[in-house]
Amino acid sequence: MLAISLCRSSRSSISKVARGCGLPEVACSALNDTEGDIQGDMANPEFNLDFAPHHGQPVPVAHGVQRITVNNPSPFTFHGTNSYIVGDRSVAVIDPGPEDEAHLAALLAALSGREVTHILVSHTHRDHSPLARRLQEATGARIVAEGPHRAARPLHEGETNPFSESADMAFRPDIVLGDGETIAGDGWRLTGVHTPGHAANHMAFALEDSGILFSADHVMAWATSIVAPPDGSMADYMASLDKLIARRDRLLFPGHGGPVRKPLSFMRALKTHRRMRERAVLGRIKAGDRSIPEMVKVIYRETDPRLHGAAALSVFAHIEDLIERGEIETDGPPALLGSYRPAGRG
Ligand SMILES: [Zn+2]
Repeated sequence: MLAISLCRSSRSSISKVARGCGLPEVACSALNDTEGDIQGDMANPEFNLDFAPHHGQPVPVAHGVQRITVNNPSPFTFHGTNSYIVGDRSVAVIDPGPEDEAHLAALLAALSGREVTHILVSHTHRDHSPLARRLQEATGARIVAEGPHRAARPLHEGETNPFSESADMAFRPDIVLGDGETIAGDGWRLTGVHTPGHAANHMAFALEDSGILFSADHVMAWATSIVAPPDGSMADYMASLDKLIARRDRLLFPGHGGPVRKPLSFMRALKTHRRMRERAVLGRIKAGDRSIPEMVKVIYRETDPRLHGAAALSVFAHIEDLIERGEIETDGPPALLGSYRPAGRG
């Protein structure tokens, strides 16, 4: 019964995930109350919900950087997708956003009198990339990205991809930017930092000589990033967090919400938060839970039930990682509605 009801709520929530990128999180302390195997002081990330979107208006956020937020708010996109304009007279646009006439008009108004040389796309989810084509038609700029859309792993037999509607499958960059490669313009240089996890082709962009990193949906101040198989991979996400922690950027501008002003401590806390979540999943399986709906019901009991479908995908991502590392087992390929047990009890 539970599986059926969660399955239904999963579908409705997943359709929202399709337009979104973050999952508002319950504080880790809520887990400490009941998860007996979780010990110690946990550094909760200090999520910051303080953000005035000023939809459609260019907002200066740093020297030579403007942010324009799309009017596409949702429980998963927060106040909407952020587009960024980098440069002065000759500029780059990062993440033009979804197919949205009002946002295209707002971008073109903000870009009036300036040359657009490049359109950089962080990843191919529909709230970030589709407007690139229209903006290119209007400006002649070249589109830059890590590559076309792809999942983190092939689909298992009989598996359907809950994100198929969220992907911009038609997207093709004019310039494929590899990890560490740089695009230069008039007074700015942007370097691609491949950060898979939320999406396989996810790329952050470092504004050279500024300490600024456009972190897109990998690290956001307002919520954790949705990491959901098969598009997402928890192992990749954790490795990408380590990669950014090692960079020591000063300021992050995310794809949704306001800046991350203390990236190092925030990302370290995000990492701890994910490890705690992983231990909670493992703890539930050791305690006798076998299905993802059972685990979600306990682990996310203080989270809005409308978000439980997305939460189930997040638990699924942890489960894939735990299976890969030999901590738990299942029969056949891991599945959203599969049955799981501690390793060695097959
Ligand atoms: Zn997004």
